[in-house]
This record gives sequence, C-alpha cells and structure tokens, in this order.
Amino acid sequence: MAINLHKKASLTAYSLVLSLYTACAFHLPFFRYLTGHLEGGFNGVLLTLSAAFLLVAIDFFVYYLLVFLGRFVGKCVVAFTLFGDAVMLFFVNTYNVLITDEMMGNAINTQYSEAAGFFGWGFVLYVLLLGILPMVYVFGRKVDYGSWKGFGACIGVALALIAAVIFGNMKNWPWIDRNSTELGALIAPWSYIVNSIRYEQARHRAEQEEILLPDVTGVSDTRDVCVLIIGESARRDHFSLYGYPKETNPYTAQDSVTALVADASATYTRAGVKAILEAQETGELYEILPNYLLRAGVDVSWRTSNWGEPPVKTEKYYRKGDLKARFPEADDRYDGILWEGLREDIAASTADKVFVVIHTYTNHGPSYFSNYPPEFEVFTPINPSVEMGKVSREELFNAYDNSVVYTDWLIHQTIELVRSLPGRRGCVLFVSDHGESLGENNLYMHGVPMAMAPREQIEIPFVVWAPDMELKSPEKVGQHHVFHSVLRFFGIDTPFFDEEMCIFAPKNE
Ligand SMILES: [Zn+2]
Repeated sequence: MAINLHKKASLTAYSLVLSLYTACAFHLPFFRYLTGHLEGGFNGVLLTLSAAFLLVAIDFFVYYLLVFLGRFVGKCVVAFTLFGDAVMLFFVNTYNVLITDEMMGNAINTQYSEAAGFFGWGFVLYVLLLGILPMVYVFGRKVDYGSWKGFGACIGVALALIAAVIFGNMKNWPWIDRNSTELGALIAPWSYIVNSIRYEQARHRAEQEEILLPDVTGVSDTRDVCVLIIGESARRDHFSLYGYPKETNPYTAQDSVTALVADASATYTRAGVKAILEAQETGELYEILPNYLLRAGVDVSWRTSNWGEPPVKTEKYYRKGDLKARFPEADDRYDGILWEGLREDIAASTADKVFVVIHTYTNHGPSYFSNYPPEFEVFTPINPSVEMGKVSREELFNAYDNSVVYTDWLIHQTIELVRSLPGRRGCVLFVSDHGESLGENNLYMHGVPMAMAPREQIEIPFVVWAPDMELKSPEKVGQHHVFHSVLRFFGIDTPFFDEEMCIFAPKNE
C-alpha cells in the first residue's frame, strides 16, 4: 500500500491506521493467552473477535482524542506509547513475563547498571522496527483534524460501539474477571501505564511512617552478634544443602549449618525483603527489625548492593559505593565488597549486641555469570548472552549454579568471621527474598503474582548457623520467622513475641 504523505489524511483514517497497527504489532501474546485459555465453540470465537474489536476501538478512541485535542503534543504522546509498547513486547516475548504492578515495581526499582544486562541486540531490533519506525507515520503523515462537530460524532460512535460490545459480552464478564490480571498485563500500553500507577500508589501507602511496635520489656546481658544475609533470587532446589545433585554448597557443607525448608511471602524484592524484616504479614508498614533493634539499644548496620527495603534508620547504612569510598582498593564488581571492613566494624563496637544486615545481589538475573569472580566458575560451559531463551538449559543452570557457589562462599566467610570474634555468641542467617524461574514452563526470573507463581519462585533457602542455640525442627518456615528468631537469639523480650514463629527453642534456665 503506497501512502501519499503529502495528501492530508482525515483524523479518523489516521487514528484507525495507528490503532490497527497497535492491535496487530503488539498483541500476539494477548491473543495467544486468550485462545489458549478459552473454551472453544461459538462463544470462544465471539469473545476473541470482541476482544480484537475492543482493542482497535479503544485505541482508536484514545488516539483520536489525544491528537484532536493535543495536536503535536498528542502525536508525541502516541509516539511515546508506541516506543513503550515495543519495549513491553520485547520483555513479554523474551522473558515471558506478565506486565503486572509487581513487574512494574521490579522495572522501576531496577537501576541502570543492572538493567543494562537485559538489553541485547534483540532489544534494539524490537525498539527500532516496532517503536521507532512507525514514528515516521505518526509525525510524517499530514492530518486534517476536522471540525468539533466531526470530533463529537466520531467520539460518540466509537463510545457507543465500545459500550455495545462490552454489554453484548455480559455473560463473559466472570471469565474476564478471573483472567483480568493476565489479560490486563498483556494489553499495550495500558499494562505498563496503569500498573505503574498502581505500583506507585501501593508504594506511597507503604512508605508512610512505620507503625511503632510496643517497647522491649527486657534484654539479656550476653554479648552477641547476628549477621542476617538477605539473598537475591536464590532458589532452594539449586542448593546442594537441600539435595541438589551438583555441589553448589561446598563451603557451608562443612560449617554444620541447618537448612530449613521455607516459602517466600512474595516473588519480588521489595515485598520479600519487607517480609524478612517484619514480624507478620500486614498491608501496613510496621516497625522493621533493624529499626526496632536500634531502638532497643542494639548496634545496627546495613550493607547493600541491592535496593527495595523499607526505610532503615541506622546511620551505619552503607551502599556498595560508600564501602568503595571507605576501601578504595576493594573490588566492587562483586558482592564480596559488602564484607569489607566488617570484622573491624564489629570488633570496634562497644554495644553488647550487634546486628548486621547484608543485602546481596549475587543470584539476580539475567547475567548470573557476571555476578561472581572468575574463580567461582566451577560449572561450565556458560553462555554470556542475556537473552535467556536462547541459552541452553545446561548453560543457564551452570551460570546460575556458579552464582550459588559464590553465595555459599560468602555465607561461609561470614560464619568464619563471626566464629573468630572473641567474646561474642554468634548467629548467621541466610534467607532469600524469593526464588527464581530458570526456564521451567518457559518462565524466567521472578515477579509472577503469588496466586499463580510457580514453586521455583516461591521456594527459598533459609540457612541457619547458631552453635549456641537449640533449633526446633519446624516442617516449614516463612520469612517472618526471621524477626522472632533474631529477638530470641539476642535474648530480647517483647509483648508480641510469637513462639510459633521462632526457630530457636527457649533457653532452659
Ligand atoms: Zn529479589
């Protein structure tokens, strides 16, 4: 079809071309989901056709409205959404993710340095061909905007048709409602726009001032140190401590650690970390463990190469960059830098009780192979491509498993460090924020909503080293167990301590 760019197109035709393009170029996964989950027969066909019509009609309505009212600005907004649609399609197709509010939270919280790992040549192609190229039409096509009268008529007809199709499908509403998360997550551009707004609203609610917990009623007089290592995307079934046949825990295997079976509360970092730090599951933000301990007189510090935790109040809060500034000769490419100067910091503390949180990044994808030093490349071959769907299962597993070996070494180093500190009882905990998909059911990474998340994203390692404590043998624990267990380790009494949520047996005095 040859388009004469010099002859003006009516705004109706212009909007229709763009809405047809949007429906065809970006909605293959949407229709694949629809046809894959519908029962066949006449109703299935009707619903699919209705969905196709609605996609075109609603985009037409919005494009027409934007360009009529905004003119050039409206065109810019349309162009921006086409760019966003191409990015979204790349992620949906490459990583098989759903663009939910949780996933937008992941995207918003991903820093550029880490995000760079996602963008290979495939990404450039998607954006160039599907996002940038159509802008030639968006900006190049001369448009006859028409009159206000034409505007009213066109918008009226579009709205009436949309309403008719929606009400004509009333008996499908329950099905649509049940599948709304998935369907909404695959419709461009609404998925990423609406879900970004929903995510920001939820975050705003969560970042309100934390609700203080009742004061501590008693503290033991022992001198203790507890290091809590928060893992990132560590999945349980790739830890040999839990029976994985490859030797991914060669270091802690010699440390007499206990590996508890645990499930995460969420599949994304912000919520997983919050669950590790909070006493119980609530929609609110209650005082988190480090802040509560700080208020009880504990020496609290935080070291992180990650992000997403609720506000931590200690002054001893060190990002990777802060540690690099303190220790310029340290290698800041890997999580090892988070341990730099830790022994000296603990030794210098005059407090009876010292609590250190180390929030790691090591098992985060897609570039698992770039998160560990070369000497930890024990499983080969690996494939340094970021497009996980194109890497063989063996290569992907090897890179991930190497990152688990490095994590294991970091845990082991912590235990060695704590063990060798004179005059302090020690405890080291390693708990992951969530698991990780490595191609099972064609899923990668994490962030699938809990209700439909695969077990790989939920099952996490919960590794304990505490030679002075007697461990109970719970069948399964959760992330909130950390809170109550750390309180018991420190010998801190509070009115809301929950025996059920504590992995340590009470001390018999
Ligand atoms: Zn995470």
